[in-house]
Formats: sequence, structure tokens, C-alpha cells
Amino acid sequence: MKYLVVFILFFSHLYVDAQEIEKNLKKHISILASDSLQGRLTGTIGEEMAAEYIQTQFKQLNLTPLSSFSFIHNFSFTYNSNPHSNQPNTDTIIGKNIVAFLDNRATHTFVIGGHYDHLGHNEYNLSTDVNSKGLIHNGADDNASGVAMVIELARNYSQNNIIEPVNFIFVCFSGEELGLMGSKAISGIIKQKYPNTSLMLNFDMIGRMDSNNNLNIGGVGTSPNFTSILNDNKPSSINLVLDSSGVGPSDHSSFYYQDIPVLFFFTGLHSDYHKPTDDTEKINLGKMGTIFSYTKSVLDSLAGNPNLTFTLTKLKQKTKTPNFKITLGIFPDYKDYGDGLHIQDVIEGKPAYTYGLKKGDIITRIGKTNVTDIYTYMEALSKLKKNKRYRITYISNKKTNTIKIKF
Ligand SMILES: [Zn+2]
Repeated sequence: MKYLVVFILFFSHLYVDAQEIEKNLKKHISILASDSLQGRLTGTIGEEMAAEYIQTQFKQLNLTPLSSFSFIHNFSFTYNSNPHSNQPNTDTIIGKNIVAFLDNRATHTFVIGGHYDHLGHNEYNLSTDVNSKGLIHNGADDNASGVAMVIELARNYSQNNIIEPVNFIFVCFSGEELGLMGSKAISGIIKQKYPNTSLMLNFDMIGRMDSNNNLNIGGVGTSPNFTSILNDNKPSSINLVLDSSGVGPSDHSSFYYQDIPVLFFFTGLHSDYHKPTDDTEKINLGKMGTIFSYTKSVLDSLAGNPNLTFTLTKLKQKTKTPNFKITLGIFPDYKDYGDGLHIQDVIEGKPAYTYGLKKGDIITRIGKTNVTDIYTYMEALSKLKKNKRYRITYISNKKTNTIKIKF
């Protein structure tokens, strides 16, 4: 009977914790992705409001500022918003990283980070929605979700009454969308101040796990024990998609270049990516809770032996797009026009060229899959097999054509 009571208490405690985490995650995301923060474009008042919110969270947790007086690390950079023109349009922008330290008097330090800036009102044409100029890009998944995870891990590690065998630096980066500017500016400073930094874990877009339950983790080749620890701690409800490269489309790359082992958590692309519709209500909070407890157990395992060896990986610049074996030989237009996949250009000698597809043509169907945009296009390609024939429907000069292509 006594055991039963202990058992119930133990599990009811876990249950309350999970609910509490989800509630907190939801609060952070809905505030950061609300219209009042105007899409958090680097250097704007909206981003400053987000910085203020994150800083207040760190302050309430009694974390130590990076410098003696402030959680904010200011940096400036020039940004050319018109790089393909011979009339460059260069702006000087001030970004603000938010950096907090949890001092456990340990030798080694782990960095947990995620960017908090986003696209604003699409001032710099980084949206995938062609008609979105002036609309607020809330960036709930990209990357209020990652920031919420950073804040909740900071809360957990600072309030758990356990002195971990590592110190933690919690950092929310600015300027990511404009070229990883914040992490480039702070990674060297962290490495210099804490030379025994042996891990950087980056969350970028962690809130949209779909029914495949796939969690993508990059950087697993940057230290020898990562793969086994990631697999050993994995709950049965999620699948891991591991990628070895330390370089990827987000802030961990800047730490990899400082010879620090990195891990990059990402739940994948979706049709609201870089659109005004990346909103809070589409976030999968339950799965974020699962990722939170999984990350925590991975970090706890790694902290047990924190002198992590750094290993170089192939410098594969993996974009935020899936890989597929079949290629049509076109440059797709990533903007969503709503009527199919627009061909930006055709590569000579590849299937599309051979079969007469041209720049400006619109692909509407491949095999059995209707193509409406870049995502359905990639999905369609991923279903194809080599040496087989498939029907492709496309619009050329307002005329619909169907051809059969052998890949
Ligand atoms: Zn982004």
C-alpha cells in the first residue's frame, strides 16, 4: 500500500509537470508570436519588445547576465537587402542577443540557444508568400517555439535544486533570418570567456511535429557519443532523423566553426514556413512537451561526462529542404502562387529540359500527386522511383500539357 501511494505521488507529480511545461510553452509562444510584436524583425521595436520579455524571464529565474550589468549583447552589422542588383541597398542594423549564465561552479559549460528574430512585415522579401508585403509574419514555429524551449530549460535547470555537473549559458539570438548574424557575433565571445564550452544545442522550428512524429537532429557527427546517447534516451512516441553535419541553416553552425560540438533540433518544414500564417494555434504543444523532456534527458546524460570531444564533419550545407534521389532538373520558384510549382529555370541535359519544359511553366501534377507549391512538389518527387515512367501535368503559356517522363 505504501508503495502504491509513493507510486501515485511520483506519477501525479510528473503529470502536473508536463501540464505546467505545456502551459508555459504556450504562454511564451503566444506572447512572442502575437501581432503586437510585429513579427520581431531585427532592429525594430517589435524585436525590442521580444528581447524585453525574454530578459524579464531570465531575470525572474535569478540567472547571471553575461556581462556584469546586462543580459543584452548589442552588435551591429550591415545588411544588403538587394544583393542581386548592381544598386545595393545596404542598411546598418543593431541586433540584440539575450544571454544568461547559470553558474554551477563546474569546469564545462553547455550552451542552449535559439533565435527570437523573424521576418517582421516582410520588409526584406524573405517571405515564401509572394503577396505578403506589409503583413505581420508572427513566426510562432520560426522561432518562438525554440525560444520557449530555451526559457523552459532555463527555468528547469535553475529551479530544480540540483547542482548539475556543468554550467549553462542560455542565449536567444537576434539577426538569424538575416544570415545568422547574432550567433556569429556571440559565439567567439562565449568561446573566449568559457573555453571549456563543450556543447551548443540549438532549437530552430521545434513546434510543428506532424503525424510522422519525426524529430530531425543535426550535428550528430560533431562528437563521438552523440548518436548513442540520442538513441538511448529516445521515447517510443517519436522517431529520430539524424544528420551528421555540424553546419546547417541555423545558429549552431556559428558554434561548430568555434570547434564546439553542436546539436540542432528541428521538427521540419511545413506549408506555413516563412508565411504570415505561421501562428500559435498551429503549434503542437503536446509534442513540444515530449521534446522538452527528451532534450532534458539527453542533456542530463551528456552532463554526466561533459568533456565532449569535438569532431569535424563533412561541410554539407543542408538547406531546410528534404533530400530526394529523383531530380527533374529545374530550379523551383519557392514562392507560393497558389496554382502550382513555378519553374524558375531549367537545367540543360536534365529530364525537364529533355522533355521540353521551360522557364515560367507551372507544374500542377506529378504521378498521382497534385502539386500546388514547393512542398507538394517535394512530396511528389519523394514518391517517385528511378527507371519508371510518370505522368507530369504542367501549364505552359496558359495551355495544360501532360507528358510522360522516365527518371
Ligand atoms: Zn526562419
